[in-house]
Order: sequence, then structure tokens, then C-alpha cells
Amino acid sequence: MQLEILPEGGDRISMSDCLFCKIVTKSIPSKIVYEDETLIAIEDINPSAPVHVLLIPKKHIASLHDTSDADKSLLGHIQLVAAQIAREQNIAVDGYRLINNCGTMGGQEVMHLHYHLLGGREMLWPPG
Ligand code: 5GP
Ligand code: ZN
Repeated sequence: MQLEILPEGGDRISMSDCLFCKIVTKSIPSKIVYEDETLIAIEDINPSAPVHVLLIPKKHIASLHDTSDADKSLLGHIQLVAAQIAREQNIAVDGYRLINNCGTMGGQEVMHLHYHLLGGREMLWPPG
């Protein structure tokens, strides 16, 4: 049976059509830098910095707007894993940025919750 999610006020989205669900199930290949039972971290295909890793929960959640109290430990876990990957990628001492783009105005293009870990160059503020 095909699972479907009905986002608030939105069209039906099938998980079988979701790019990051396909990356999670490895039907689309990616360069995996970390994986556990709840999340996967991969190199971004179009990096915006020398280190550009995407942290993606395995569970399909469309955006941060679609999270709830039930996702508290997952959201905390993502930040702790991001800090661990930053140490492994040698960007922790110099500093790095962890970003979530939420919704259209937030610049989100892939509607499956993910965080960008960026490092290896000086970041600008405010972001564009
Ligand atoms: P968003 O704009 O949704 O926050 O970020 C989506 C990110 O996914 C972009 O940085 C984009 O380069 C990355 N991306 C899009 N398609 C693929 C893909 O097929 N593989 C990987 N590894 N990254 C992708
Ligand atoms: Zn998905």
C-alpha cells in the first residue's frame, strides 16, 4: 500500500515521489557521511561551501512547520549529530552554520525536512 501525507492546505504528496525519501531508501544514490535508525546525513549535490552536508530524518516530515512535540527527540538528535559531523569534518573549531529552510519564503525547495551543515569558509550575515 502506498502511504500518502496530506499537508496542511496542500496537495497530496506521495512519499514515493519524494526525492529525500528515495535517498533515505537508497533508490537514489548519495554520498552518505552518517546514518543511524532515525536519520541520514549526505553530501549536498550542489555544495555552497567546502563542507555542505544535509541531515535528513528517515521519517517523511514535509517541513519544520509540520513537526510536533512527538518530534522533540528527533529534532534534538539532529543538532547533536550535526555537531558530531562538524567535529569529524574538521570545521568545529573554526565554526560552521546549521540551517533549516522552512517553506517557500524560507527558501525550501525539497519538501522533506532537512538541515544544512555548512563550513570551511566564512559565512555572511544576514543570509540572502
Ligand atoms: P532546500 O533549498 O530545500 O533547503 O535544500 C535542498 C538541497 O538539496 C539543496 O542544497 C540541493 O543542492 C540539494 N539536493 C537537491 N537534489 C539533491 C540530490 O539529488 N542529491 C543530493 N545529495 N542533494 C540534493
Ligand atoms: Zn520524504
